[in-house]
Amino acid sequence: MLAINPNLVIGEQEIIIMAGPCSVESVEQMVKVGEVLHKCGIKVIRGGAYKPRTSPRTFQGLGLDGLKIIRSIADEFGFCVVTEALSVEQIPLVNEYADIIQIGSRNMQHFPILWAAGELRKPILLKRGFMNTIEETLFAVEHIMSKGNDRIILCERGIRTFDSETRFTLDLSAIPILKSRCGLPVIADPSHAVGKANLVTPLSLASIAAGADGLLIECHPNPDNALSDGSQSLPLEIMPRFMDQIKKVAIAIGRTVETNDSINK
Ligand code: PEP
Ligand code: MN
Repeated sequence: MLAINPNLVIGEQEIIIMAGPCSVESVEQMVKVGEVLHKCGIKVIRGGAYKPRTSPRTFQGLGLDGLKIIRSIADEFGFCVVTEALSVEQIPLVNEYADIIQIGSRNMQHFPILWAAGELRKPILLKRGFMNTIEETLFAVEHIMSKGNDRIILCERGIRTFDSETRFTLDLSAIPILKSRCGLPVIADPSHAVGKANLVTPLSLASIAAGADGLLIECHPNPDNALSDGSQSLPLEIMPRFMDQIKKVAIAIGRTVETNDSINK
């Protein structure tokens, strides 16, 4: 169990949904996202300001402006912010704007960033490296903890396999294994795992059934025009129905999802 703040606990009965665009693109985009997430009862907004893009020729994020935008939208609607720090140097700045600092898949074994995150007392969302074993993931947790920070949420976000139908392969078995091995909250990120919006809901339901304490979901007001990861982003208008489906599986396994009741009528 981890209290992100006194009102937001992850790793107990409630399933925590973290949602938002891959990248913070503009104030207008984030207002639209914020309005819908708020109506859905979602408590954590995501959005990258510093993006770890595989190709250097793609959008690299708005940087500090992106951090300012996501923080102001979060304050307006009362969300917590999860956003990524790409380097040790960025940690102090991201720490000022984020409630949860994300360490991305490509950085899971970048030990200096793990140590820098370990010096903080802020919650860290550590994403499994897509080429790393479960054991290596647990060692990465130990690197953070070795500096005194045990406020860690783990995220299974898909690993590289031989199959090219999906972007990565969501390793569902990692969810209960990680939970039992380290006792930390574990969430799933089906968006980056599958890379296709139409597969995000079924894999989200499966992740909850497998014991995930939450989900990290990409959504966008206009996925076709997203500056990054549009193909895996849920259109905002389906978020209420998505939450409704998540809630049904959660209830079936004795867990809860707080939604805005109006969407379930
Ligand atoms: C992200 O969540 O924004 C991201 C880049 O994911 P990953 O590090 O899992 O690729
Ligand atoms: Mn993305």
